[in-house]
Amino acid sequence: MSLHLYNTLTRTTERFKPIRQDEVKVYYCGPTPYNYAHIGNLRAYLNSDFVVRSLRFLGYKVKTVMNITDIDDKTIRDSQKSRKTLQEFTEFYAGEFLTDLSKLGIRHADTIAPISTLITDMRKMIQWLFDKWYAYLAEDGSIYYSVSKFRKYGELAHLDMSGMISSVRINNDEYDKDQVADFALWKAYDSESDGPNKWTIEITLDGKTQKLDGRPGWHIECSACNYRFFGEQIDIHMGGIDNLFPHHQNEVAQTEAYTGKQFSKYWMHGGHLLVDNKKMAKSAGNFYTLRDVVEKQSDTAPELIYRGFRLMALQNQYRENFNFTFERLGAAVNTIRGLDEMMKRLGRYIAKLPETSEERTGRGKLKFHEISREFRDNQQYFMQEFVDKLEDDFDTVSAMTIVFEFQGYVNSGIDEELFSPLEARSLVDLMRSWNEVIGIFDFSLLESESLPADIQALALDRYDAKMAKNWAEADRIRDELASKWWKMIDEKNGWRVEKI
Ligand code: AMP
Ligand code: ZN
Repeated sequence: MSLHLYNTLTRTTERFKPIRQDEVKVYYCGPTPYNYAHIGNLRAYLNSDFVVRSLRFLGYKVKTVMNITDIDDKTIRDSQKSRKTLQEFTEFYAGEFLTDLSKLGIRHADTIAPISTLITDMRKMIQWLFDKWYAYLAEDGSIYYSVSKFRKYGELAHLDMSGMISSVRINNDEYDKDQVADFALWKAYDSESDGPNKWTIEITLDGKTQKLDGRPGWHIECSACNYRFFGEQIDIHMGGIDNLFPHHQNEVAQTEAYTGKQFSKYWMHGGHLLVDNKKMAKSAGNFYTLRDVVEKQSDTAPELIYRGFRLMALQNQYRENFNFTFERLGAAVNTIRGLDEMMKRLGRYIAKLPETSEERTGRGKLKFHEISREFRDNQQYFMQEFVDKLEDDFDTVSAMTIVFEFQGYVNSGIDEELFSPLEARSLVDLMRSWNEVIGIFDFSLLESESLPADIQALALDRYDAKMAKNWAEADRIRDELASKWWKMIDEKNGWRVEKI
């Protein structure tokens, strides 16, 4: 097979053919940093992460760009409420957002651009749109995009434009489909709502240069960001389905009017994360941040929660909506524990094996080969299936069923002492390669000696305390270990520690 993906633009599944083989350009709309991200937002970035990692895994050279929407209605409103400068305010939440991404194993975009650094780029684009009659100046000093001038308006979002009234205008960043309207490229300064947040651009209108105080509209930000870092065309534009209209539709109108070329060859839209079957949204008040989830699951190590949430996203097709519940998260965390158990068992198995077949001593069950034909065939089967699933519109749900089949194969092979030293290591290699996409395996569990020094010291102290029958001290150390997410298990002739 070859890679196929569902393109929102054509509403069909198409074979992926990048514009240039040597660089696949992928853009996804970044966050609006006016608060902590909720896990619905984070699902959108998990989706982008799976797609980008899959493309790289399949051999494509990918370059990624993400903006940070630091100038918008909400950041301006809430920065003033919190009595911080817009920059201070948005830098804080953008930083928290990037930390959340890292916790979930989401790789950061190669270029991350706050929109406030792109005012000159936006000015240039607005001037050009104005010169070519796509834009006009309103009485209040705002500049609007005239949607009736763009022939293909509505194509991406599949809108019926037959009854369009071109003179309707809207200056909100977000609006509904039934409000198709001319939208703001530049919003005139309003001292009441904008406070100290004002930018000035020079625009030449009918031969006269004017200074316009105000701020950019949301949509022009992404058009300018793409143009600055990628040029005229990109391969894939991603985002949540809620961004299809008006945001992405307006990006197309701006960029294609500006360049005269198709903007993005493929558009990929992710489904929503729901709570009680409703879209998780800050405005609906039905949201959890990653911090909320960790607090609510206080008996589970945060690191397991992060991997559990990542697994939940992998186990739901990216275009489908899915309902978040704590039971489902708990089930995903248990699945992660199962994968961790397999990893530990494999680590112990490898540690017990001699280095090479020649050194093999009386362990009758080991076969006299380094890598058997059957093993090679199995490995090939697992790899090929995994690749096939990803090539089928990034079907991570089915790819994960292959991972679980593999887990069963590894566990039973360990039970039967089936794998030779080289084979056991090649199982690890396969998982390392898959992990470039799924990012949920913990390879540190392979190494039994990888016990952190502070944990080992605590365990030894606790053992001494117990030997001295100092139960209070032993309990104190047990709690300290638990606060670091480790537990000590007593064994007949000593002890061992395990991650909780
Ligand atoms: P925002 O910070 O509001 O600009 O949103 C950032 C990203 O999160 C966008 O790609 C949205 O489409 C996406 N998004 C917002 N809410 C949800 C949700 N409930 N489920 C999935 N993605 C969402
Ligand atoms: Zn965007």
